[in-house]
Amino acid sequence: MKILLATGNKNKIKEIKKILNIKNIDVLSIKDGIEIPDVIEDGNTFEENSKKKALEIAKFTNMITIADDSGLCVKALDGKPGIYSARYSGEHATDEENNKKLIQDLKGIENRKAKFVCVITLAKPTGETYSFKGEMFGEIIDEPRGKEGFGYDPYFYIPKYKKTTAEMPDKKNEISHRALAIKLLKEKLSEILK
Ligand code: IMP
Repeated sequence: MKILLATGNKNKIKEIKKILNIKNIDVLSIKDGIEIPDVIEDGNTFEENSKKKALEIAKFTNMITIADDSGLCVKALDGKPGIYSARYSGEHATDEENNKKLIQDLKGIENRKAKFVCVITLAKPTGETYSFKGEMFGEIIDEPRGKEGFGYDPYFYIPKYKKTTAEMPDKKNEISHRALAIKLLKEKLSEILK
């Protein structure tokens, strides 16, 4: 059986393939030459966006498709940047620009609690969808630490490990919001594909 991963992000493809390593299931992506359409992420929640992406691409490719939507939610900012994480400081913003805005918005604020959220959706070309959510908790620090990862990782500090997620790539792949959501999907996969 073939399953399509609807993301062009190399980190995500690697992470998801590693966890969804199941006999008789071939996980394919655009790296295998499959063309996928651009999907407009105009939902109001991670769930809506991830479902929309998975469903549109499953219908377009006629393949069982997995898509994800993820982002950073900061408590003192009422959950922002949330679904707008990739474009927090504007359309086509760089990670650096988004991080700069985040630190500015948190200036003088003591409560630094934050979480990363990921919703993974598997969609069948026939229209059924199955969504799974994972979260990873931490706090935002003012100075970046670590060179690994992407996005907000250098500012996302986990007290239990005394590290940011940019300083612990291997551990992050075990405990991340994305890893947790994929593990939940994996548990249900045989039932879903029956
Ligand atoms: P998307 O799921 O590709 O739309 O990603 C949304 C945005 O959330 C990314 O551009 C990052 O800024 C942020 N983000 C999501 N997951 C992570 C992560 O694991 N580390 C750092 N930033 C993340």
